[in-house]
Amino acid sequence: MGKLSGKVALVTGAAAGIGAATAEVLVGHGAQVVLGDIRGDLVEETAKRIGDAASAVTYDAADTASVEHLVDEVIARHGRLDVLHNNAAITAQAWTRDTTVLDTELDWFDQTLRVNLRSGYVAARRALPHMIAGGGGAIVNMASIAAFSGGPTLVGYGISKAGVAAMTKYLAAQYGRHNVRTNCIAPGAVLTEQVLENVPGVTEAAVAQLPYTRAGQGTDIGNVVAFLASEDAAYINGQVITVDGGGTAGTPPPLDTA
Ligand code: NAD
Repeated sequence: MGKLSGKVALVTGAAAGIGAATAEVLVGHGAQVVLGDIRGDLVEETAKRIGDAASAVTYDAADTASVEHLVDEVIARHGRLDVLHNNAAITAQAWTRDTTVLDTELDWFDQTLRVNLRSGYVAARRALPHMIAGGGGAIVNMASIAAFSGGPTLVGYGISKAGVAAMTKYLAAQYGRHNVRTNCIAPGAVLTEQVLENVPGVTEAAVAQLPYTRAGQGTDIGNVVAFLASEDAAYINGQVITVDGGGTAGTPPPLDTA
């Protein structure tokens, strides 16, 4: 018996990267998982690779009706929804289109908020009645360490992720007594394909900052999603958990090279 046996989970943005790794981890713990993504062929392929406990839905996180349809489709396939993992976000394009306050087009800023923040809000609104009717559930949102400080670029991304952290608190406060726990993960650098392709030098930079001399992998995040989704985390609600290998804990002392 896995710790998520009998549970039905929805992972958004699961065609590749952290979402795909997380979907696989959840299946490993016994869950039935629906993977949603705008990249239809890829998400079908990923679900097929994970196995019979996984299935795919193509949707657009920027579109309200499409997000609602995604949640409805989970209910239609499985009759319940226990775990909602809001993971979809604009990532690769952010590095060119989402830069400074003055240089980022307002339309693109709006799109970033729609995909990264509003879509999770819409999904939660659609999922909550089912979770409450089913006796409870777990929502796990995806922020970023970019939510906690300003920076030279990614202004919309950072603001959207700060909103995700705030949304987590509201959901936790308002629906905890219905046995729906909402928590949030704030990863540091995780070496997904899109990061390796779009962020120059990230491997060296990430490793140099980390006390454990390695950057994050998708499964490092997936394992925490599985924990937060499970009864092991029954008394954790409304928390934003940084998962960065200690990267934001502080600068380590210099290595002894003697
Ligand atoms: P990724 O680009 O590999 O995954 C994001 C997924 O979201 C993609 O599969 C993409 O197709 C999907 N998506 C984008 N727009 C969509 C839309 N309109 N509708 C539906 N799906 C859409 O990125 P990743 O690195 O795996 O990131 C996953 C999550 O983790 C994101 O929320 C990201 O912000 C967060 N995060 C990642 C890192 C990192 O270093 N990789 C760090 C902090 C936070």
